[in-house]
Amino acid sequence: MKKIKLGLLGSSGRMGQEVLKAISSNFEVIFELDSKNFSQFLKLKNKPSVDVWIDFSQPEVLKSFLKYLKLNPAPIVSGTTGLSLALEKELEGLSKITAVFWAPNMSIGVALVAKALEVFKGHQQYDFQIDEVHHKHKKDSPSGTALFLQKKLDSVLGHKKTPAPLATRGGGVFGIHRIQALSDEEMITIEHTALNRSVFAKGALWAASQITKKKPGFYTMKDLI
Ligand code: NAD
Repeated sequence: MKKIKLGLLGSSGRMGQEVLKAISSNFEVIFELDSKNFSQFLKLKNKPSVDVWIDFSQPEVLKSFLKYLKLNPAPIVSGTTGLSLALEKELEGLSKITAVFWAPNMSIGVALVAKALEVFKGHQQYDFQIDEVHHKHKKDSPSGTALFLQKKLDSVLGHKKTPAPLATRGGGVFGIHRIQALSDEEMITIEHTALNRSVFAKGALWAASQITKKKPGFYTMKDLI
Protein backbone atom coordinates (compact mmCIF):
# COMPACT_ATOMS: atom_id res chain seq x y z
CA MET A 1 0.00 0.00 0.00
CA LYS A 2 1.22 3.49 -0.89
CA LYS A 3 2.25 5.38 2.24
CA ILE A 4 0.80 8.80 3.04
CA LYS A 5 3.61 11.36 2.98
CA LEU A 6 3.21 13.47 6.10
CA GLY A 7 4.68 16.81 7.12
CA LEU A 8 4.48 17.66 10.82
CA LEU A 9 4.57 21.25 12.07
CA GLY A 10 5.31 21.57 15.79
CA SER A 11 7.09 18.21 15.84
CA SER A 12 9.14 18.85 18.99
CA GLY A 13 6.17 19.99 21.06
CA ARG A 14 4.00 18.00 23.44
CA MET A 15 1.46 17.20 20.70
CA GLY A 16 4.03 16.80 17.92
CA GLN A 17 5.87 14.16 19.95
CA GLU A 18 2.58 12.39 20.63
CA VAL A 19 1.79 12.32 16.89
CA LEU A 20 5.21 10.79 16.18
CA LYS A 21 4.54 8.10 18.83
CA ALA A 22 1.08 7.31 17.44
CA ILE A 23 2.09 7.15 13.80
CA SER A 24 1.22 3.92 12.00
CA SER A 25 2.97 2.19 9.12
CA ASN A 26 0.69 3.73 6.49
CA PHE A 27 2.40 7.11 7.07
CA GLU A 28 5.87 8.22 6.08
CA VAL A 29 7.11 11.37 7.83
CA ILE A 30 8.77 13.62 5.25
CA PHE A 31 9.25 16.77 7.34
CA GLU A 32 9.43 17.42 11.07
CA LEU A 33 9.33 21.18 11.58
CA ASP A 34 9.70 23.18 14.75
CA SER A 35 11.13 26.49 15.97
CA LYS A 36 14.67 25.29 15.13
CA ASN A 37 14.24 24.58 11.40
CA PHE A 38 10.99 26.27 10.31
CA SER A 39 12.48 29.44 8.79
CA GLN A 40 15.15 27.36 7.04
CA PHE A 41 12.45 25.07 5.61
CA LEU A 42 10.55 28.04 4.14
CA LYS A 43 13.69 29.09 2.25
CA LEU A 44 14.46 25.59 0.84
CA LYS A 45 14.12 25.25 -2.93
CA ASN A 46 12.65 22.12 -4.59
CA LYS A 47 11.12 20.58 -1.47
CA PRO A 48 9.64 17.07 -1.79
CA SER A 49 5.85 17.24 -1.85
CA VAL A 50 3.74 15.98 1.04
CA ASP A 51 0.26 14.41 0.87
CA VAL A 52 -0.90 16.08 4.08
CA TRP A 53 0.36 18.33 6.87
CA ILE A 54 -0.45 18.02 10.56
CA ASP A 55 -0.01 21.17 12.60
CA PHE A 56 0.16 21.49 16.39
CA SER A 57 2.12 24.70 16.83
CA GLN A 58 1.13 28.26 17.71
CA PRO A 59 -1.18 30.73 15.92
CA GLU A 60 1.66 32.95 14.66
CA VAL A 61 3.46 29.89 13.22
CA LEU A 62 0.30 28.67 11.51
CA LYS A 63 -0.15 32.18 10.09
CA SER A 64 3.23 32.10 8.33
CA PHE A 65 2.68 28.51 7.26
CA LEU A 66 -0.61 29.44 5.56
CA LYS A 67 1.31 31.87 3.34
CA TYR A 68 3.54 28.95 2.28
CA LEU A 69 0.52 26.66 1.73
CA LYS A 70 -1.21 29.22 -0.49
CA LEU A 71 1.75 28.93 -2.86
CA ASN A 72 2.28 25.19 -2.29
CA PRO A 73 -1.20 23.81 -1.64
CA ALA A 74 -1.53 20.52 0.27
CA PRO A 75 -4.23 19.33 2.67
CA ILE A 76 -3.70 20.35 6.29
CA VAL A 77 -5.03 19.08 9.62
CA SER A 78 -4.55 21.77 12.23
CA GLY A 79 -5.20 21.43 15.95
CA THR A 80 -3.60 24.74 16.87
CA THR A 81 -5.86 26.81 19.12
CA GLY A 82 -6.07 30.45 20.15
CA LEU A 83 -6.62 31.55 16.53
CA SER A 84 -7.79 35.11 15.92
CA LEU A 85 -10.90 35.65 13.81
CA ALA A 86 -8.62 36.90 11.03
CA LEU A 87 -6.56 33.70 11.14
CA GLU A 88 -9.74 31.58 11.09
CA LYS A 89 -10.74 33.49 7.95
CA GLU A 90 -7.33 32.81 6.40
CA LEU A 91 -7.77 29.07 7.06
CA GLU A 92 -11.18 29.24 5.41
CA GLY A 93 -9.59 31.10 2.49
CA LEU A 94 -7.07 28.30 2.02
CA SER A 95 -9.92 25.77 2.00
CA LYS A 96 -10.98 27.17 -1.39
CA ILE A 97 -7.86 25.60 -2.93
CA THR A 98 -7.16 22.56 -0.73
CA ALA A 99 -8.77 20.43 1.99
CA VAL A 100 -8.44 22.07 5.40
CA PHE A 101 -9.35 20.29 8.61
CA TRP A 102 -9.33 22.27 11.83
CA ALA A 103 -10.60 21.14 15.22
CA PRO A 104 -9.82 22.67 18.61
CA ASN A 105 -10.20 19.15 19.99
CA MET A 106 -9.30 16.06 17.98
CA SER A 107 -11.07 13.58 20.27
CA ILE A 108 -14.20 11.80 19.12
CA GLY A 109 -15.54 12.23 22.69
CA VAL A 110 -15.67 16.02 22.50
CA ALA A 111 -17.39 15.81 19.10
CA LEU A 112 -19.99 13.54 20.74
CA VAL A 113 -20.40 15.96 23.66
CA ALA A 114 -21.04 18.78 21.15
CA LYS A 115 -23.69 16.62 19.53
CA ALA A 116 -25.21 15.80 22.95
CA LEU A 117 -25.71 19.55 23.56
CA GLU A 118 -28.40 19.50 20.87
CA VAL A 119 -30.81 17.98 23.46
CA PHE A 120 -31.11 21.45 24.97
CA LYS A 121 -32.79 22.83 21.85
CA GLY A 122 -36.04 24.56 22.88
CA HIS A 123 -35.31 24.24 26.64
CA GLN A 124 -34.83 27.86 27.61
CA GLN A 125 -35.21 27.31 31.40
CA TYR A 126 -31.53 26.55 31.94
CA ASP A 127 -28.63 28.82 32.69
CA PHE A 128 -25.37 27.44 31.33
CA GLN A 129 -21.78 27.58 32.44
CA ILE A 130 -18.81 25.92 30.76
CA ASP A 131 -15.57 25.40 32.63
CA GLU A 132 -12.30 23.77 31.71
CA VAL A 133 -9.05 22.66 33.35
CA HIS A 134 -5.70 22.31 31.54
CA HIS A 135 -2.00 21.91 32.30
CA LYS A 136 -0.05 24.99 33.35
CA HIS A 137 1.82 25.31 30.02
CA LYS A 138 -1.30 25.84 27.91
CA LYS A 139 -1.06 29.27 26.28
CA ASP A 140 -4.65 30.07 25.28
CA SER A 141 -7.34 30.61 27.89
CA PRO A 142 -10.20 29.76 27.77
CA SER A 143 -9.38 26.74 25.63
CA GLY A 144 -10.39 26.48 21.98
CA THR A 145 -12.62 23.54 22.95
CA ALA A 146 -14.47 25.57 25.61
CA LEU A 147 -15.06 28.38 23.08
CA PHE A 148 -16.23 25.82 20.51
CA LEU A 149 -18.72 24.35 23.06
CA GLN A 150 -19.93 27.87 23.96
CA LYS A 151 -20.54 28.61 20.26
CA LYS A 152 -22.31 25.28 19.84
CA LEU A 153 -24.62 25.99 22.83
CA ASP A 154 -25.45 29.44 21.49
CA SER A 155 -26.35 27.97 18.12
CA VAL A 156 -28.52 25.23 19.72
CA LEU A 157 -30.33 27.77 21.92
CA GLY A 158 -30.60 30.37 19.16
CA HIS A 159 -28.96 33.16 21.13
CA LYS A 160 -25.54 34.47 22.07
CA LYS A 161 -25.94 34.41 25.84
CA THR A 162 -23.82 31.50 27.04
CA PRO A 163 -21.36 33.16 29.45
CA ALA A 164 -17.62 33.13 28.85
CA PRO A 165 -16.09 29.77 29.86
CA LEU A 166 -14.16 29.64 33.14
CA ALA A 167 -10.60 28.37 32.91
CA THR A 168 -8.26 26.79 35.46
CA ARG A 169 -4.57 26.20 34.68
CA GLY A 170 -2.35 23.93 36.73
CA GLY A 171 -0.43 20.69 36.97
CA GLY A 172 -0.36 18.29 34.04
CA VAL A 173 -4.08 17.99 33.21
CA PHE A 174 -4.57 16.95 29.55
CA GLY A 175 -8.02 18.56 29.36
CA ILE A 176 -11.30 18.53 31.28
CA HIS A 177 -14.38 20.27 29.87
CA ARG A 178 -17.62 20.53 31.80
CA ILE A 179 -20.96 21.99 30.76
CA GLN A 180 -23.46 22.72 33.50
CA ALA A 181 -27.14 23.40 32.83
CA LEU A 182 -28.82 24.94 35.86
CA SER A 183 -32.52 25.56 36.43
CA ASP A 184 -34.42 26.41 39.61
CA GLU A 185 -35.03 22.74 40.33
CA GLU A 186 -32.30 20.68 38.77
CA MET A 187 -28.77 20.65 37.50
CA ILE A 188 -27.29 18.67 34.61
CA THR A 189 -23.56 18.18 34.18
CA ILE A 190 -21.88 16.87 31.02
CA GLU A 191 -18.17 16.31 31.39
CA HIS A 192 -15.36 15.12 29.14
CA THR A 193 -11.92 14.20 30.42
CA ALA A 194 -8.99 13.39 28.16
CA LEU A 195 -7.02 10.61 29.86
CA ASN A 196 -3.92 11.14 27.72
CA ARG A 197 -2.62 13.21 24.79
CA SER A 198 -2.58 10.29 22.41
CA VAL A 199 -6.34 10.63 21.94
CA PHE A 200 -5.70 13.97 20.18
CA ALA A 201 -2.75 12.61 18.19
CA LYS A 202 -4.72 9.58 16.98
CA GLY A 203 -7.64 11.85 16.05
CA ALA A 204 -5.33 14.09 14.00
CA LEU A 205 -3.74 11.13 12.19
CA TRP A 206 -7.16 9.69 11.45
CA ALA A 207 -8.33 13.08 10.10
CA ALA A 208 -5.12 13.27 8.00
CA SER A 209 -5.84 9.88 6.43
CA GLN A 210 -9.39 11.04 5.63
CA ILE A 211 -8.75 14.47 4.17
CA THR A 212 -6.17 13.32 1.65
CA LYS A 213 -9.22 11.85 -0.15
CA LYS A 214 -11.32 15.03 0.11
CA LYS A 215 -11.96 17.86 -2.30
CA PRO A 216 -10.95 21.40 -1.29
CA GLY A 217 -13.17 22.55 1.56
CA PHE A 218 -13.25 23.27 5.26
CA TYR A 219 -13.74 20.19 7.42
CA THR A 220 -14.04 19.57 11.13
CA MET A 221 -14.78 16.59 13.40
CA LYS A 222 -18.52 16.54 12.74
CA ASP A 223 -17.90 16.25 8.99
CA LEU A 224 -15.80 13.11 9.37
CA ILE A 225 -17.36 11.10 12.25
P1 NAD B 1 4.12 23.03 22.61
O1 NAD B 1 4.47 24.39 23.12
O2 NAD B 1 4.57 21.84 23.39
O3 NAD B 1 4.68 22.85 21.11
C1 NAD B 1 4.64 23.90 20.17
C2 NAD B 1 5.44 23.50 18.93
O4 NAD B 1 5.44 24.64 18.05
C3 NAD B 1 6.90 23.13 19.20
O5 NAD B 1 7.33 22.09 18.35
C4 NAD B 1 7.66 24.40 18.83
O6 NAD B 1 9.00 24.18 18.39
C5 NAD B 1 6.79 24.90 17.67
N1 NAD B 1 7.03 26.32 17.48
C6 NAD B 1 6.93 27.32 18.39
N2 NAD B 1 7.35 28.49 17.85
C7 NAD B 1 7.70 28.23 16.56
C8 NAD B 1 8.19 29.00 15.48
N3 NAD B 1 8.41 30.31 15.61
N4 NAD B 1 8.42 28.38 14.31
C9 NAD B 1 8.20 27.06 14.15
N5 NAD B 1 7.74 26.26 15.14
C10 NAD B 1 7.49 26.84 16.33
O7 NAD B 1 2.54 23.03 22.43
P2 NAD B 1 1.54 21.77 22.44
O8 NAD B 1 1.11 21.49 23.84
O9 NAD B 1 2.12 20.68 21.60
O10 NAD B 1 0.28 22.42 21.70
C11 NAD B 1 0.39 22.93 20.38
C12 NAD B 1 -0.96 23.52 19.96
O11 NAD B 1 -1.92 22.46 19.88
C13 NAD B 1 -1.55 24.52 20.95
O12 NAD B 1 -2.23 25.53 20.24
C14 NAD B 1 -2.53 23.69 21.77
O13 NAD B 1 -3.57 24.45 22.35
C15 NAD B 1 -3.06 22.79 20.68
N6 NAD B 1 -3.67 21.51 21.11
C16 NAD B 1 -4.71 21.10 20.36
C17 NAD B 1 -5.32 19.89 20.63
C18 NAD B 1 -6.44 19.42 19.75
O14 NAD B 1 -6.98 18.31 19.97
N7 NAD B 1 -6.83 20.20 18.74
C19 NAD B 1 -4.85 19.11 21.69
C20 NAD B 1 -3.77 19.55 22.42
C21 NAD B 1 -3.17 20.77 22.12
